[in-house]
Amino acid sequence: MRTWDKYIRDWGLLIILSGPSGVGKDTVLAELEKMYPNFRRCVTTTTRKPRNGEVDGVDYTFISVDEFRARAERGEFLEYAHVHGNMYGTPAWVEDGLRDGVDFVLSVDVQGGIAIKKIVPSAVMIFLAPPSLEELENRLRGRCTESEDDVTKRLLNARRELDQIPHYEYLIENDSLAKTAEELKAVIIAEHCRIKQ
Ligand code: ADP
Ligand code: 5GP
Repeated sequence: MRTWDKYIRDWGLLIILSGPSGVGKDTVLAELEKMYPNFRRCVTTTTRKPRNGEVDGVDYTFISVDEFRARAERGEFLEYAHVHGNMYGTPAWVEDGLRDGVDFVLSVDVQGGIAIKKIVPSAVMIFLAPPSLEELENRLRGRCTESEDDVTKRLLNARRELDQIPHYEYLIENDSLAKTAEELKAVIIAEHCRIKQ
């Protein structure tokens, strides 16, 4: 046993990625996976209906409102929240994965991010911001996955979410995709060198 071993992180990292709907969280994570495959994405649970092309168990675990309530009552979520009119929850098993030394990236809204940081204080909080609100709207509309009502709701929520940036530890602007993924990778690598408290 070396004297400095006690300062080396033995759990995996829990990386929380938040940012307004349409900013590019899923796209950036897909890009990161290509250049840095050493992490797992935590598949969360939602009552939202799947979008075209979304796969159950890959993008989300898609369940009914009744099933969501039952799982919440059984304590199967680390946190859950009402977001843009649907329920979303982080599975409690993610903590076991961390103990096994696996890094997890979790895309959750700001309420979820703040709640998880209280439960897992070592979680790394990263906020992804758009280059501008106009560009955010272009991306959200360009995705063509939400109704007009949903787009309006998500854009309204975006302003509130941007106000929560001070709760986060890192701010990355998603302008060029390659640069954004590089910055995310750099944060993860740096966090691995952080001295364990
Ligand atoms: P989120 O997961 O944050 O809701 P998405 O990953 O679905 O956002 O991205 C929303 C839209 O923005 C998608 O059409 C995606 O192709 C586009 N997008 C994401 N990142 C960029 C980027 N850096 N530059 C231009 N368009 C982007
Ligand atoms: P979308 O419907 O666009 O996939 O996701 C809407 C929002 O819900 C995004 O901000 C996403 O990060 C967030 N989200 C996804 N899963 C969870 C979760 O388990 N908990 C919380 N609090 N938010 C989540």
